Amino acid sequence: MYIGRFAPSPTGPLHFGSLVAAVASYCDARKNGGRWLLRMEDLDKPRTAKGAAETILRQLEAFAFEWDGPVLYQSMRDRFYNEALEALKAKQLIYPCTCTRKEINDSSTSFGIEGVIYPGTCLQNPIKHDAAIAWRIRTDAVNIRFQDAVQGEVSQSLNTDIGDFILKRADGLFAYQLAVVVDDAAQGITHIVRGADLLDSTPRQIYLQQMLNFTTPCYAHVPVACNNAGEKLSKQTLASPLDIANTSLHLIRALDFLGQTPPAALIHEDKSTVWQWAFSHWQLSKVPALKTLKLDAA
Ligand code: GLU
Ligand code: ZN
Repeated sequence: MYIGRFAPSPTGPLHFGSLVAAVASYCDARKNGGRWLLRMEDLDKPRTAKGAAETILRQLEAFAFEWDGPVLYQSMRDRFYNEALEALKAKQLIYPCTCTRKEINDSSTSFGIEGVIYPGTCLQNPIKHDAAIAWRIRTDAVNIRFQDAVQGEVSQSLNTDIGDFILKRADGLFAYQLAVVVDDAAQGITHIVRGADLLDSTPRQIYLQQMLNFTTPCYAHVPVACNNAGEKLSKQTLASPLDIANTSLHLIRALDFLGQTPPAALIHEDKSTVWQWAFSHWQLSKVPALKTLKLDAA
C-alpha cells in the first residue's frame, strides 16, 4: 500500500521548482501503483496569496496531474492541530513561552542549523502573565536518525541542532511542523517525496510522529532547483510562474532535472505520452543525491 502526496503552500503560483517536487511525488506514487493526494498548506494566513490556491489547481490540471480524492485545506483543520497539541500537553512535552525574538537573541548562547537556539528560559522561569503565549516542545536529548531514499542516512540531535521548537505561535497560528505531521497521519501518507529544503525539518516531524503515536512514513528528498546565483527558485527570488503553454517541454525538463534521462524524441509528443513514459520509466534511484542543483546543470 502506497499513499503519496503533494503539499504546496499557496503563497503564489507554481514555478519550475514546485513542478519538480510535484512530478517526483506523482511519478513515484504511480510507478508503485499508489494513490496521490493533494493538500493545500494555507496555514499561514498572512503569507497565503489571494487566489493562489485556485491558480495552483489550474496549473496542475493543465499539466494533467490527477490527484485522488478531495483537496485537503489546512486552513480548515485547526481543530485537529489543537487536538494534537492537547495530547502533547497531557504528556507534559510542551510548555508555554512568552519570549520575544529579541529576548531570545539576547539570551541565547548557542547556534543550531536554523540560527540561535532557544535557551529554555520559559521552561525554567515563570512566564510573564500579560504576554501572548506560544507553545514549544521540549527536545531534551532526542537524537533522530532515518534513512532517506535519495539522500541516504540522516541524523540530527534535536536539542543541539534545533532546540525546543514552536508548535503554536503567539499569534495563534499553528506551526508547519505540527500541521504537516497531523495531516500526513490523517491522510494515511506512507511515502513522502519532496524537496530537500525540507530535509532539516524531517527529524522534528519524526519526533512529533513518535510523540503522537503516528507511524513514520518513508522519506525521499529530491534536489531543489536553484538559479545561477545558487538561490532556491521561489517567489522571493522572483522565479517565473510555470507557463502552461508548453507542458510537455516543462515535464521533460523536470524529469531530466530528476535524473530520469527522458529521450529527446519525447519533445514532439503530447503530455499524455510524456506521462506514460514517466510512469513506466521512473526510478527513484536515478535521482541525484544532492540538496540543490542548478537549473542549467540538469
Ligand atoms: N508546503 C511545503 C512547501 O511548499 C511543503 C511541505 C511538505 O512537503 O512537507 O514548501
Ligand atoms: Zn520563552
